[in-house]
Amino acid sequence: MARHQGIRQFRCFIDGEWVEALSGETFESIDPFTAKAWATIPKCDARDVDRAVEAARRAFDDGEWSKLTATQRGHLLRRLGDLIARDADHLAAVEVQDNGKLIAEMRGQVGYIPQWFYYFGGLADKIEGGVQPIDKPEMFTYTRHEPVGVVAAITPWNSPLLLLTWKMAPALAAGCTMVIKPSEFTSASTLELMRLVEEAGFPKGVVNVITGFGADVGEAISTHPGIDKIAFTGGEVSGRRIAQQASSNFKRLTLELGGKSAQLVFPDANIDNAVKGVVSGIFAATGQTCIAGSRLLVHESIHDQFLDKFVALAGTARMGDPMEWTTQVGPVTTRPQYERILSMIDMARGEGAEVAMGGKPADRPECGDGWFIEPTVLTGVKNDMRIAQEEVFGPVLSVIRFSDDEEAYHLANDTRYGLAAGVWTSDIARAFTAARRLRAGNVWTNTYRAVSFMMPFGGFKNSGIGRESGQDAIYDYLETKSVWLAFNKDVPNPFVMR
Ligand code: NAD
Repeated sequence: MARHQGIRQFRCFIDGEWVEALSGETFESIDPFTAKAWATIPKCDARDVDRAVEAARRAFDDGEWSKLTATQRGHLLRRLGDLIARDADHLAAVEVQDNGKLIAEMRGQVGYIPQWFYYFGGLADKIEGGVQPIDKPEMFTYTRHEPVGVVAAITPWNSPLLLLTWKMAPALAAGCTMVIKPSEFTSASTLELMRLVEEAGFPKGVVNVITGFGADVGEAISTHPGIDKIAFTGGEVSGRRIAQQASSNFKRLTLELGGKSAQLVFPDANIDNAVKGVVSGIFAATGQTCIAGSRLLVHESIHDQFLDKFVALAGTARMGDPMEWTTQVGPVTTRPQYERILSMIDMARGEGAEVAMGGKPADRPECGDGWFIEPTVLTGVKNDMRIAQEEVFGPVLSVIRFSDDEEAYHLANDTRYGLAAGVWTSDIARAFTAARRLRAGNVWTNTYRAVSFMMPFGGFKNSGIGRESGQDAIYDYLETKSVWLAFNKDVPNPFVMR
């Protein structure tokens, strides 16, 4: 895949127009492999948020969109899915250049993204209200599900297109309109997607994208009275701030936040498969995934054997240009994140952890000027150390021993997060018990990092509120209305409740 040469100038997409920020200001987007700017992005502020919300409101309240039938909305979603499938190579390349994700991973992701648009497009005209049984014989009662209104989608830098899709597909299927704010580090692929939204024929104002920083654009969204719901994916600190600010007009809220997920390897596990599963959990996407299996809980009887095999396999990982199909570990996406990961490794050393592998920047010719960190394994970690409690969001695995199943469940759950867990065992009873005992929104047994448009995804505890994907996700974009019809001729005593 080829990099774009020179500087690309992106524009925002508001009310069906490609526009600059009202201030005229822009900021640079950096290619994490070359550490050089490759694009400029409009630096929006609160005035641009107003513009986008007004457009989304118009489209929702009395625009062409609100007049479409649910079946017509479904067709548009499926058309968008087809266009994404057609342009998958191009969208993947844009995201790799902007984000540093591997082309091999991105091509798979963009190839899969249309399924969300097909699935929710199909669901659009199958949202049934119901005739409700009622204990009042003179009444007829039914429920309707109506779109919640204008939805703001705020997304992080680690998987911009996929995480936006998880919001866009159900929101549009439900009949909402959208204001989207991608991360300031990776806005390009979201803006590129808007070309396809335009080509698919969505009426103007239905989908708007404004770009800029969390502190100004993000905050202006969270406090905006014209927005009815926020669908957020990002860190815990921003999530908390958004939840506080969204309470100003009681916006509906779904939050997909961070994790400190455990991979539990029991003595009866198929060790070779478990080794691959743990590698995929922490080194795929350079550990920059919310579901990173960043704590390895391994039974003491197989600790040494497991670690030897793990380090041997992880040591073969090919680092380098994420645009190359054979690269297995790419750069860290942002300079601040690169520095944070290194400082967390230092912190772990200070807490008494030992570096069994990596632990430093990658000094390899194939890594160019990029922000690369060697896949890192820390041993001797205790679960109450900060390295075992704080999300690193990088290629850093903390290894912790356990001696029996109870201890394994206790350690796995002893975190403020609850996003995911991996279980490696050949014992079916243990697999079911672990799935029940683990306080996490996603439990993978003898696999890891699997997602589907058909399966709910989300977290317990500080990992978030609500679920994305699966049929129920659409109800987070709908309000339930209860309708009462009375057919008695006389109005009864008006001074008492009916
Ligand atoms: P972040 O919270 O810094 O930023 C996410 C988005 O929020 C960005 O668009 C940012 O501009 C915006 N933002 C920041 N402060 C804001 C504010 N006060 N008001 C409104 N918007 C604001 O997160 P990040 O560093 O981009 O992403 C990494 C984090 O995302 C990690 O914690 C990771 O675990 C989490 N994440 C979670 C999931 C999930 O599905 N649970 C998936 C991917 C990433």
